[in-house]
Amino acid sequence: MSSPVSLPKHALLNGKIVAYGDAKIHVMSTSMKFGSVIFEGMRAYLAHDGSALFGFRLVEHFDRLVNSCRMARISCPVESSEQMCSEIGELLAEEQAQTGTYIRLQVYVDDMNGRMSAREPVSYCLGVFPAADYFAQQTQRVMVSSWRRIPDSAMPARIKIAANYHNSRLALLEAHAAGKDNAILLTELGTVAEGPGYNVFLVQDGRLVTPARTDAILEGVTRDSISHLALARGIDVIERPVDRSELYVADEIFFCGTAAEVTPIVSVDDIPIGRGDSGPVTRLLQGAYLRAATGQDEGTSQWLTRFALANAVPTSRG
Ligand code: PMP
Repeated sequence: MSSPVSLPKHALLNGKIVAYGDAKIHVMSTSMKFGSVIFEGMRAYLAHDGSALFGFRLVEHFDRLVNSCRMARISCPVESSEQMCSEIGELLAEEQAQTGTYIRLQVYVDDMNGRMSAREPVSYCLGVFPAADYFAQQTQRVMVSSWRRIPDSAMPARIKIAANYHNSRLALLEAHAAGKDNAILLTELGTVAEGPGYNVFLVQDGRLVTPARTDAILEGVTRDSISHLALARGIDVIERPVDRSELYVADEIFFCGTAAEVTPIVSVDDIPIGRGDSGPVTRLLQGAYLRAATGQDEGTSQWLTRFALANAVPTSRG
């Protein structure tokens, strides 16, 4: 998310509501020194009728958090998705959230002497922020990064850990320095991996093609959602290694992720994709995703966790 206009008033630290400014960590902690912070970025959408907030696929985010903790050998202090959802509800109520919200959960080694191998104490913290448009531009001009995506043999991209994001940051800063909006990183073998914080789909002859889960990606919750929504609309989805040059001749390409939602890529390395604008399949899936997230798709209602609006004011919709 881009920087929130104003800071939240509260955070939830180790299960307790605290003032936002009191959610602190020691500067010499293992997490600060080595990036040992497992996290999830989640979203709650305002229901289409304005009656509630809908957490989007929170159980799947929790499952990924648990898996990241397992791989990083950090014991997960949040015991269940029910606990996480109830604490998210508590914080949303405390913040009186009334609009779409970005929800961040961090699990981190919270010591003061910063040993590389320290595994405890472990703390966790939840923050909620009004969801603004993530990208400055609604369509993205991207470059293929000269940085390669971190390989599973060294730093598994499958682990959602802060340390991995230095690789993403290098790619993003390089792209900005080159006057582009964004980057696509390749695997060590030179096939397409993903964007710095989002997965990539290509549209080829009416089908979706996306790198496989073994192609150095974070297995996105949105990626899975898009595949599901596409299949439900009769669009085939193929997961396989994707050549770099397939990007240049794709009919459409888009990023997808919790923050990025579904965002069209209109050029790669200055080569226009399709007609150089958002394509029909991308627009179809953008709409399908937003309808699912805001409670307008009966087939995916199990994806949503309902949170009552704090001090709900009646919404008048014209
Ligand atoms: N790849 C990376 C590197 C990411 O940081 C993200 C954002 N979490 C994604 C893909 C998309 O994952 P999700 O759809 O679960 O947000």
